[in-house]
Formats: sequence, C-alpha cells, structure tokens
Amino acid sequence: MTDRCNRRQQRMRLCTMLASLFGLLLLLTTNQTAVADESTASPPAPDSEWRLHGLDVGEQRHSKLRQINSDNVRKLGLAWYFDLYTRRGVEATPLMVDGTLYVTGSWSMVYALDARTGELRWFYNPEVDRAFLAKGCCDAVNRGVAYADGKVIVGTYDGRLVALQASDGKVVWEVQTTDRNQSYTITGAPRIVADKVVIGNGGAELGVRGYVTAYAIATGKQAWRFYTVPGNPKDGFESDLMKTAAETWSGQWWEWGGGGTVWDSMVYDPQLDLLYIGVGNGSPWNQKMRSPEGGDNLFLTSIVALRGKTGEYVWHYQTTPGETWDFTATQHMILADLEIGGQLRKVIMQAPKNGFFYVLDRTSGELLSAEPFAVTTWATAVDLKTGRPIETPNARVFDGKNVSLPSNAGAHNWQPMSYHPGTGLVYIPTMHIPITFLEPTRDLDRKPGQGYWNVGFDRMGNALPDVPNINALMDQVYTGKLLAWDPLQQEAKWESETGRPSGGGVLSTAGNLVFQGSAETELRAFNAATGEVLWSTDVQTAAMAAPITYAIDGVQYLAAAVGFGGGAASEAGAIVHGWNVPNLSRVLVYKLDGKAKLPPVPPRERVLKKPPPVTGREDAIALGKVMYQRHCSYCHGDGMRTGGLTPDLRYSATAVHDIWQEIVRGGVLSPVGMVGFERFIDEGEAEAIRQYVLLEANRLYEQQQAAGQAR
Ligand code: CA
Repeated sequence: MTDRCNRRQQRMRLCTMLASLFGLLLLLTTNQTAVADESTASPPAPDSEWRLHGLDVGEQRHSKLRQINSDNVRKLGLAWYFDLYTRRGVEATPLMVDGTLYVTGSWSMVYALDARTGELRWFYNPEVDRAFLAKGCCDAVNRGVAYADGKVIVGTYDGRLVALQASDGKVVWEVQTTDRNQSYTITGAPRIVADKVVIGNGGAELGVRGYVTAYAIATGKQAWRFYTVPGNPKDGFESDLMKTAAETWSGQWWEWGGGGTVWDSMVYDPQLDLLYIGVGNGSPWNQKMRSPEGGDNLFLTSIVALRGKTGEYVWHYQTTPGETWDFTATQHMILADLEIGGQLRKVIMQAPKNGFFYVLDRTSGELLSAEPFAVTTWATAVDLKTGRPIETPNARVFDGKNVSLPSNAGAHNWQPMSYHPGTGLVYIPTMHIPITFLEPTRDLDRKPGQGYWNVGFDRMGNALPDVPNINALMDQVYTGKLLAWDPLQQEAKWESETGRPSGGGVLSTAGNLVFQGSAETELRAFNAATGEVLWSTDVQTAAMAAPITYAIDGVQYLAAAVGFGGGAASEAGAIVHGWNVPNLSRVLVYKLDGKAKLPPVPPRERVLKKPPPVTGREDAIALGKVMYQRHCSYCHGDGMRTGGLTPDLRYSATAVHDIWQEIVRGGVLSPVGMVGFERFIDEGEAEAIRQYVLLEANRLYEQQQAAGQAR
C-alpha cells in the first residue's frame, strides 16, 4: 500500500505541474469563447432550466451556460437568499422549471421559490412523524424533487411518494411505498422514467430488504417493483432472478433483511430504455452474520440495469462481492459517450464508497476499466477479466486494530460529481476517513430483526482515544478533497487543497468552472482545467448539496441549498466537533455583480454550567461508555462529539438528568426524534450511560475552566 501511495503522490505532483499547461491548452482549444467573453463583458445567457435531478439525462451536472466564467467569476455576488424553516441537514439539488425553483429541506418539506427573487410561491409540509428519525441512518435529509407533467414529486422520510401540483403545491396523489412498521426511510430524489416515476428507500443499517418501485406519473398507480436481494425462500421467490440470486447467499439472511437499499443514485437512458439503479450495502454490514458461508450476495453493492417499461432485469455489475464494509454502490452514476480504443462507447461511470472508479459499457454491463481514486486497504486492484476485486489478506480482519480505508463513510459518498465534456474530467468529492471494525462482543448484536441500528460490528472499535488534543488530531487524520479525474487514463489531473470531509456536491459549467461547497463554510469556484480557486464566498454553514445554475431573461444564476447535517453530523459527528459549523439552512442564489448580503451569524456560544458530580463506580462508567457507543453514538457522536444536529449530551441540563430514564428508556422525547430504548437498554445500563456522560461533562468543564472559557 505504501508503495502505491508514494507512486500516487509522485503522480499527483506531476499532475499539478501538468495541470497549468493543460489549462492553457484547454483555453486555446475548447474554451475560446469564454476567453472572448472578457472583451464583451458578460453577454446575456440563453434562458436555461434545470428540470432533471442531474440536469441532463446522463446526470452529468454540466451546464452549457457561460455568462459566469473563469474570467469574471470573481464578480459573483449574492442575488438573494431564502431561510428554510428547519435546521437539519440540507442535501437537495434544487430544480428550476419555468421561473420557479423547487427545493427540499429537511423532513421532506418542499419550497417553491421565485427563481429571480426568492419570493415564496408555495410550501408543502408532509408532516412526517418525527419518531422516524430513529428509523434512518443519517438524518431526516432529502436530496430533491422530480418534475414531470406539471407535477413536483417528492419522496418523504416516512416512505411516501407525493405528487404535488407544480402551480400551487396541492397534493395530486400520494402513495405509501414502504411498510411503516419497518425501518424504511426515503431521502433520495425520485427519477422520471418515461411516463413513470421511480423511488427507492433506505434502512440497510436497521434491517430491511431493498427495492425500487415505479408508479404512473398521472395516477400514482404502481407499475412495477424490483427487489434487489432475495427474500425468505419459504415465501416463494418473486422471480427466477431472485431464485438465482439466492444461490449467492447462505444462512438465514432474510431474518436480517439482507439490505441492498437504493437510497440515492438512479439514472435513466431513454434511448436504451434502461434504468440504472445503484444498490446499497448488506444488512447487516458484517457478512458473517448475514451470510455465514460467504457468497457474492447478489445484488448488493451492484449497478443493476432494468428495463424502464417493465422493471425487468437486464444486466448487473457488482462492485464489492461479499460486501462487509458498508461499501454501497448507491453513489452518483454518470452516463457519457466516450471514445475508448478508437470506438465511441456508451458508458456509465461511478466512484462508489469502495474507492475504485468504474467505467462500464452501459448497453452490456461490460467492465471497461477500474482503478483506485483513493487509498483502498481492502483491495489492490480489479481484475478486468473477471471483473472482481483482488482483496488484500487482511481485508476481512475485524479485530478493532486493523485500520480500514475507506471507512463505511466511503472514499466518496452521496455528494454528486460532475462530468465536464470540455475537460473530459469527472470531479469527485473524496474523503479519507480511517476506521477499525470490531466483531460484535455481545449476543444481542448477533440477533437479527431488532429494528434498530445493528450493523453486526461493535461500535467500540471506532471509539475515539481519550487524548486531550483529539480535535487537532482528527483534523489531520480525517480529510477531504476534490479530485479532477480523467476517466480515460484513470488518473487524477488535479486535486484541491486538503480540507475537512466531505466537500459538497459538484457542478461544472462551460464557463471553465467547477463549483463546490466545503465543510469549512465556503462555496468555491475552481478553474475546471487547472484546479485554481478563482472565487470563494462565506456561506456561514456547510454547503453539502450540489449547486445548480440556470438563466432567466439573459441572467445566469448560481443556486445552492446549504445547511449542515446528514451523516456527516451524526454518525461521523466526531469528525466535525469543535469545527464550529452552524446549521443555517438556506437557499443562496448568486449572479454577476449581485449585491445582497447575508445577516451576521447568530452567536452560538454555549455555556457549560458545572455538571453534577460523577457518582458511579469505575466499572459502571466503563459499561456506560460501551453502551453509549453502541446505542447513542450514531446520533450523538463518538465520545459525545456531535455535529451539532443532536444535543451534545455533556451540556445536558439538570432537568435532563432528573428524567434520564424517562427519556432514554421511556421515549418521552419521541416527538422530537429521541425514541425510547427500553427494549435494548435496562435501567442499570441507562444509568451507566448517564455516569459516562457526567464523566465527560466534568472533564470538559475542567478543560474549559483551565482555559478560562467557562463562566
Ligand atoms: Ca449504508
């Protein structure tokens, strides 16, 4: 691995040097008009909408607009902003249709805004039951709506698909796409497939079986459903395909749900009538629990091509056979026509969590190339003959010491990429987050069907070390950067400076620009050819979602939905602790010479009053830490370092301590998403957690006293 890293670093340095030369060449060839734009001072932009989730049918997220370009992007300023009504994660790609911007905030709420002024035209709140928060892995986020035939269609966190009248937001039809008694959630954007709309779901961390369903856009009537993993053979398989898939499984996987949820990426090629779905991880992650005799476990972590009209299986490619690390293949897929070996090939490209960049022929599923775009400790390469990864000897050693890269968060997650046909590059928001997996240490975690987060690993393997400079250490260890990837050469042409994970989704434009938000509250524009940062603005919060661009009356706008949260703030909350990223959920819209200003950031100083003393014994505190990591850390953060989305328990008021059992076991705070854990935590364990919280609270108080911060 070290050798490969070194070679890689050398290659990167060379790439950076070459990048400036490449940039010059590019300006002289593909981007001459952009250069000429300088003298004509921003010609009017042709009116242009953003009607599909990924802009074009290939979901390239590349706009032909070039009024804003690498020569004048420094003049970009705020045109208007709109404050969303909630303060949770924002991951939505807005749509812009006929002068209206349709954007979703948390809890699947839909806002229709005048795309020129930001004036609210209508608002839709699906009134999602807040207790569903405990049925999802990664916050009540939503990645956007679909638009077709005058309807705006949204998937809700509690598993409904709702079609709204685009003109006024009135409900046209509504269907429940999941079993509300199971741990299904929807965070992904629906996709339009001719006269149908397709939606998947999430919940593979909580024991469900994945599928996608197509509904008629006109009526909401179900057209077809495709399951991604086989169910219980006793119930009879839905198809011969499921019977064949079951041969790649062992044990009693159905008891665990199996997983394979399609919670984000889907892309439809209308010419081929093929819908490509990105299938998620196994449920639970640990294959030894789910399928003890091994096996590929189809169709986990696969790209599956389905016939759009019927939902019939056409082909699949599995990126991670025998998945066990949460290496979903749900990440953004891009369709493009690339010249490979002198032939124009219709390809599909993906950079899934597992760290390899895949180029496949999308008509047949043939693997054309696959190379690592990040450090991959689990596999050294992909054998092009068999299409299978070559795993390392320690890949499946889960002793709590063996460091794995990428982590379950992935080398790339849901943040959309973009493909710029002019530079020929795919821009990938990447992450470097090491993790250690630990086999489960108690019986309860080896039992299926519990309906709460159980991934078949012990979270203690991932507990943060008790060292005082932990935040500074994490800053060095957990990183992210934007990679400009050449899909033909399968190598990076340039990369951004290293920052915090993860950078946001990406937009590229014919103005030789790449736009991306960062975890450091910045929205930036890069020179698409060279990676030079040409513009940057403070958005006061993390910009995780991908920006879009559109033009009305000859004026080009850049729009971004911002707001911190999602998986980055809950599961990986530790990573952002101390980074002071507030959540200010907003829609921000920019144009050249925009003069609007954001209000000042509200003060966020928290005062830690002297906590009650620790009264528990050492063994109780130790038990409390174990129980905390198992049950609480997914939302409240490793070692209580939350991303600010959920309360930092160290700041719990005395009143919280007074009714601790009622909250933790009784679920009195269910209406705000804190469900009761009565089934999993007994009274003594709940008290042990409280003692651990008190220990950490007192520790923090003493640190703040010492630093003179406490009042
Ligand atoms: Ca997952």
